[in-house]
Amino acid sequence: MEHLHADAAQRYADLVARGSEAVLGLDFDGTLAPIVEDPTRARIHPDAAAAVLAAGRHLGAVAVITGRPVRQALDLGDLAELSDGLVEAGRELFVLGQYGNERWSSSHPEVVVPPVPAGVDAFAADLPAALRSADAADAYIEDKGLAVAVHTRRLADASAAYNRLLPVLGALADTHGLTVEPGRQVIEVRGGETHKGEAVRTLAAELDARGFCFVGDDLGDVEAFRAVEELRADGMAGLLVCSGSEEQPALRDLADVLVPGPDGVVAFLRELAADLAARPLA
Ligand SMILES: [Mg+2]
Repeated sequence: MEHLHADAAQRYADLVARGSEAVLGLDFDGTLAPIVEDPTRARIHPDAAAAVLAAGRHLGAVAVITGRPVRQALDLGDLAELSDGLVEAGRELFVLGQYGNERWSSSHPEVVVPPVPAGVDAFAADLPAALRSADAADAYIEDKGLAVAVHTRRLADASAAYNRLLPVLGALADTHGLTVEPGRQVIEVRGGETHKGEAVRTLAAELDARGFCFVGDDLGDVEAFRAVEELRADGMAGLLVCSGSEEQPALRDLADVLVPGPDGVVAFLRELAADLAARPLA
């Protein structure tokens, strides 16, 4: 783990000291699961669940907070199994999907989904023409129910296509009253005001948390980082971990520590687990 902020070591120590009063929040893609060309084939890192469990058993709760629908995250992450392990340790797993719009937890293992926001269906209907107008007709469209994601990773000119599409989809989203969420070779358009920052704040309040560690890799995690910064300003222990990505320097600039991708996240969680286990009991 590389320290990016002068206070990183102290913030890490503060988090460890809070132990079971702290919450661990984790993004999925690029954090727990390596980024792959076909988003339907992303799988959790083979050592990630064990590492999350090792750390999570000493913390208050673990939350996977992702842009993916809950069902997908549960499947691609084998998260029900992780949940069983955490429950055995007396802990709870939360899976907050679609940036916090969908919710699942160990104690309420049903996906709670709000109604599809107005505008999403109309946006989807206008989308093929918009893609053609940006010379990106073959971009992969992912229907997420509450949102639509356009992936450019598999196009021959992925980055150029992304740059052409961003303003076009932004304008179209605007006309339908929707929000654009730019990511790593993916542009997501969704309704609602909910973002990962709201998810962090809601969970921290609900669990009466006194510490929050968030690990993420992408622009969609910026709001979560800012929420943890605010909680920290209010006296909570907060640690921000960037799962290193050359593609996304914006998040790295906000982070306390940098780890090299999902491999580095696993190593970080193992170190955190060891330090939590070794902490003197109050
Ligand atoms: Mg991510």
